[in-house]
Amino acid sequence: MVKPFNSCGPDNEPAIPKHILVDHSPVAMYTCDLLGRITYYNRAAAQLWGREPKIGQELWSGSWKTYYPDGTPMPLDETPMAAILKNKNSFDQSEITIECPDHSFKTLLVFPRQLFSDQGTFIGAYNTLVDISYKENLETRDAFLSAIVEHSQDPIISKNLNGIITSWNKGAEKVFGYQEQEMLGKPITTIIPADRLDEETFILDRIRKGKIVDHFETIRVRKDGRKIPISLMISPIRNGSGKIIGASKIARDISEQIKTQEAIAQYTEDLETISSISRTISEKLDVQKILQEVTDATTRLTGAAFGAFFYKMINEEGEAYTLYSSSGAPKEAFEEFGLPRNTAVFHTTFSGEGPVRSDDITKDPRYGHSPSGIPKGHLPVVSYLAMPVVLSDSKVIGGLFFGHPLPGRFNARHEKLVASIAAQAATALDNARLFEEVVSLSTRKDEFIAMASHELNSPLTSVKGFLQLLNKKNRDATCGSFIDISMKQIGKLQKLVSDLLDVSKIKAEKLQIEKDRFDCKALLEDVIQTYVQDITNHSFNLKLNCQEVFVVADKLRIEQVIVNLVSNAVKYSPKSTTVFITLEKRATDLIIKVADQGIGLREEEVTKVFGRFYRAEERGIAGLGLGLYICSEIVRRHGGEIGVNSEYGRGSEFYFTLPLAIERQADK
Ligand code: ADP
Repeated sequence: MVKPFNSCGPDNEPAIPKHILVDHSPVAMYTCDLLGRITYYNRAAAQLWGREPKIGQELWSGSWKTYYPDGTPMPLDETPMAAILKNKNSFDQSEITIECPDHSFKTLLVFPRQLFSDQGTFIGAYNTLVDISYKENLETRDAFLSAIVEHSQDPIISKNLNGIITSWNKGAEKVFGYQEQEMLGKPITTIIPADRLDEETFILDRIRKGKIVDHFETIRVRKDGRKIPISLMISPIRNGSGKIIGASKIARDISEQIKTQEAIAQYTEDLETISSISRTISEKLDVQKILQEVTDATTRLTGAAFGAFFYKMINEEGEAYTLYSSSGAPKEAFEEFGLPRNTAVFHTTFSGEGPVRSDDITKDPRYGHSPSGIPKGHLPVVSYLAMPVVLSDSKVIGGLFFGHPLPGRFNARHEKLVASIAAQAATALDNARLFEEVVSLSTRKDEFIAMASHELNSPLTSVKGFLQLLNKKNRDATCGSFIDISMKQIGKLQKLVSDLLDVSKIKAEKLQIEKDRFDCKALLEDVIQTYVQDITNHSFNLKLNCQEVFVVADKLRIEQVIVNLVSNAVKYSPKSTTVFITLEKRATDLIIKVADQGIGLREEEVTKVFGRFYRAEERGIAGLGLGLYICSEIVRRHGGEIGVNSEYGRGSEFYFTLPLAIERQADK
């Protein structure tokens, strides 16, 4: 039985009114009468309920909602307080859950008691409420956490500061292969490889200092001895008073991640390799070098013990496959193949059907148990990979073949790599083949020019000789003019033939230069003198800045250069009348300039006029485009320089230099 709050202090001092104490108590309390109407509640009760009910309001009226601890609704007349008022004093303490007006839930421990008057009459009840939601929340959180830890796919392990395992979840069982009961109490070093034991000292050191070890990528050993890459996150565990008592470790098996990273790295490396090989082979125009480069690279990349490139050559008898290059074994070893026969093994490749990859070609059902393509005593091919080399128009130009004495050596990656390189090789080989054809045509053309000019020269010389004889013997007016015309035409023909001969000599590096010491000024004057007689329309403006100028050179060839430049100046200035010729002696060389006021050259033509057979825009002026080419070769062979300044439509100035002869005493 409980007395009402009306007693005094210990020494009969005036007591603090009890309701003030209760009002301000942190413990929630309220009272109600026998009908369950609220007669009093303190501040803590109002705060806990989240409402301030009216005094006199029935407890189980209105919007109160209560629940049993398991979450099922509790009718208001069955609450512990209602039961106490119904005189069922069976509640010592009980747990209920209430829903507050803001829809939050609170779990309360309630202590309802009956109230009696001084006379002992049952007048109502009072209730004390303790909010245990916090405790419950903690328990719930712990329950959730342990469920998460228990069922996590990732290993979650805890250990004490001595490295002894204190918990081991399902994820750890799966990843490391040890059961929980096997590992509890065991040192964590059980799963650390011997060469990484130092890591544990490092980890425990950091944990003792309260630090986290994050993203620690390492290797651990499974129960079956297999090593697995994992990423660790290790944090200190503290007890209630904050003292570090151990460490929790979350591990993640990163085998897949590492495999993906490795695959990406491998892919990048493959791309780089392919692009570097294609760069190398596309720069080459030599079939043999391309074949060797491709064979070496692909043999290396596939890890083959030996590799070979069979290349289709077209010979006089028709098409034939020729072994062009080999790697890892001498060519002769491959020649044992008997070269591509129409066997099942080779046919697939040379018909361009596609690649052939076999882990063990000797047992491959596609080709029978004893593949006829690999004779006895031949290279021990077990793993086999073959790739046709096909042009974009589907024409098969060859095949790449790889072998290894052990089975299962070639995989899909090797096949892809070889396919990419084979495609690059096909293009490079095609270019090289075209280039070889062009070179061969050009060589044949040079041979033809050499032979034709040589053959033409002899009859021309003889015709010229007879014309000269005729000229002396029978010179009446009509015949004389015919002979003159014929002589002129023969002269032109001879110039053409001799230019052609010179060109073939230059190509064959056989142009002879016979040097002598002579006065170039005198030569220039002589040439102009002779030339003037032939020219009717043009006059020559000659400027010579010295008395004499000695050079050591091939006089005939220098004369040829001067004649060429002068006759070009005349030829390409049909509408003007003057050609300007200057000779200047300089410190170490002389320079001869031949300028005209003719048709000139376009900017883009200037650099090309010294090329073989080059003729600037067709303007109806005859020529072969060889003169300047020969001049530039002659000047170059004398250590001089040749060039042109020109303005289109206004004229050109061709010049060349020659080194001066070392002065002798007498020349001074
Ligand atoms: P060809 O005169 O027989 O064609 P050249 O080698 O002497 O051969 O000259 C090459 C080309 O250079 C000529 O076809 C012509 O277009 C150009 N060329 C040479 N000399 C002159 C010049 N003086 N003025 C303008 N164009 C010239």
